[in-house]
Amino acid sequence: MPETPVATATDQQTAPGSTRPMVEIAGLCKTFGEHRVLKGIDLTVAPGQVACILGPSGSGKSTLLRCVNQLETATDGAIHIDGELVGYRVQGGRRHALSPRQIARQRRATAMVFQRFNLLAHQTALANVMEAPVHVHGVPRDRAREEGLALLDRVGLSPYAEHYPAQLSGGQQQRVAIARALAVRPRVLLFDEPTSALDPELVDEVLSVMTDLAREGLTMLVVTHEIAFARDVADTVFFMDGGVVVESGDPAQVLNAPSHDRTRAFLRRVL
Ligand code: ADP
Ligand code: MG
Repeated sequence: MPETPVATATDQQTAPGSTRPMVEIAGLCKTFGEHRVLKGIDLTVAPGQVACILGPSGSGKSTLLRCVNQLETATDGAIHIDGELVGYRVQGGRRHALSPRQIARQRRATAMVFQRFNLLAHQTALANVMEAPVHVHGVPRDRAREEGLALLDRVGLSPYAEHYPAQLSGGQQQRVAIARALAVRPRVLLFDEPTSALDPELVDEVLSVMTDLAREGLTMLVVTHEIAFARDVADTVFFMDGGVVVESGDPAQVLNAPSHDRTRAFLRRVL
C-alpha cells in the first residue's frame, strides 16, 4: 500500500489528462432464477466524479452496486474499475477467468457503505476501521492505528475512537462505516442508501461527510433518495427503473426537466 496515511484523490487518479473512466459498466445483466433484475446496464463514471443512482424500490440499484463490489456475480456484461476487469467477463454464458494480478488489484478496487452500518458490535470504532487493513491487507497494527485515527478525525469522530457502536448515534455509526470503507483506500466508494436508516435529524451529518469526500475528489457511486444531495453534489444522475437506466445526465437536467414519464412520476413521489 502507498505510504500516505489516508485515501486521497491522488490515490484514485489515473494519469493526468487520462480520459479513461474510473467505473465502466457495459451491458450488465443479473438474473436470479427466472427473475431478470438487471437488463443491460451501461454506466460510466469519470475519475473524481460523483454519480447518483435514483429509482424506485426494486429497480435493481442494490444489485447493481453488489455486482460492482463483487457481492454478486453478474450473469452477463463487464465491469471495469480504473481499466481493470472486476469479477468475470461473461459472454454468451462463458466465463473468462482473471489473472492473479487482476484479482489482487480488484480486491481493493471498491468499498461499500451500507444502509445499516454493519459495524462489528464488539469492537470499538477504531478497531472497526483497523480491521480490514490489519486482517485483510496485512498493514502493521501501529500504522493501521495511526491511519485509523486520522480517518476518524476526517469524519469528525476523533473523540469516539474507543466507543463501541451501541454507544454511538446512527449518524456517528455511519460515519465510522465511511471511515472503515476509506481505510482500504478504494478507487471507488459505493454507498447504498447510506442515510435511509437514520432518524431525520442525523441525515445531514452523514451527507456533509459525503459532500466533503466528493469535494476532495473521491470517485463515488451513490444510491440515494436524497434529491437535494444529488442536485448539489452529483456530476451525473442515473435514473433506474425495472432493471434498466431509463435516463441519465446532468443533475439539473434529469431532476428539473426529466424527459421520461417514469422519472417524472418517481420525482413527484419523493419531492
Ligand atoms: P433496489 O435496491 O432498487 O430496491 P434490489 O437490487 O434490491 O432493488 O432488488 C431488485 C430485485 O431483485 C427485487 O425484485 C428483489 O426482490 C430481487 N433480488 C435482489 N436480490 C435477490 C436475491 N439474492 N435473490 C432473488 N432475488 C433478488
Ligand atoms: Mg436497495
